Amino acid sequence: MVPRLSNGVDTPLFEIKQIPRKGRGLVARINVATGTRILCEKPLLTVQSEYTTPVDAENMFAAQLKALPKASQREFLSLHNTNPGKYPFTGIVRTNALPCGPSSSVGAVYPTICLINHSCVPNCNHSWNSDTGRETIHAIRPIEAGEEITIAYDCGRVSAVRRAFLKVNFGFDCICRACSLPAAELAASDARRERIQALDDAIGDASRMASRPSDCLRDCHALLQALRKEYDGCTVVLSARAYYDAFQICIAHGDEARASVFAERAYKIRVICEGEDSLETQRMLSFARNPASHPTFGICSFGWKRSRAMVPKGLDAEQFEEWLFKMK
Ligand SMILES: [Zn+2]
Repeated sequence: MVPRLSNGVDTPLFEIKQIPRKGRGLVARINVATGTRILCEKPLLTVQSEYTTPVDAENMFAAQLKALPKASQREFLSLHNTNPGKYPFTGIVRTNALPCGPSSSVGAVYPTICLINHSCVPNCNHSWNSDTGRETIHAIRPIEAGEEITIAYDCGRVSAVRRAFLKVNFGFDCICRACSLPAAELAASDARRERIQALDDAIGDASRMASRPSDCLRDCHALLQALRKEYDGCTVVLSARAYYDAFQICIAHGDEARASVFAERAYKIRVICEGEDSLETQRMLSFARNPASHPTFGICSFGWKRSRAMVPKGLDAEQFEEWLFKMK
């Protein structure tokens, strides 16, 4: 689907161009604002992660391909293949499929979205909308006309791990801005990514959330700061997850006031990264409006009991953050 500007001007937001050392890619034609939906596309093919044999997989893809219109078949066959040879359809699928959701075993191949190149500090977020059966691409920071549109193919680990992953799975050496940093800055970036991972693991520990919720909440604050620094202030979906973690800590201890603020922040980030029509966006909005509807309301204690109306008023921004994260 070629997007049209909301003012009705018949100008796509991007064009497909040859990018030096990368092959085809998408480049913004005009300045694009944060939160803009750049693409919304139906899959050409969907893929289960496991097939019994390589021959079965190839035959399955061949059958799916044959059922497509000729133009779609050509789009599929024009996609990059890092693994050409005995199983060409499987090679194209492996090179291009994006998972339909963060933990889904189903993947999908798209005619245009699969042309978007990778960056370890991308300017766009990709997400699967199971309601509409489409993958969406949203700008997570302002993108200037002429700038390449990028998404992350990996999960944002330290440079050595993600570069090895990209080489094995996609066949390229990443030359993005993060991977091209001078050694000292790259080491600092790696240290932040290790800290992001460690904080995420610590926050996910359910027994700690029950026994030391204030520590977990402060970890959420530290995680959000590390994400802001590592991703240059881009609105990353990992921040929505961190705010939702903070929501869960508060609601498990009966605090509807802080929980509603955290859910509201998670909602606003999801709007930017995924759009209003994303199921996760709508879920965050419903928790912001009614935090006590969460199934874990008061499950650990009611030690922090506070109604939604008890969000303090009249604090400056710094004081509000201190209250929100129980910094004192
Ligand atoms: Zn990179």
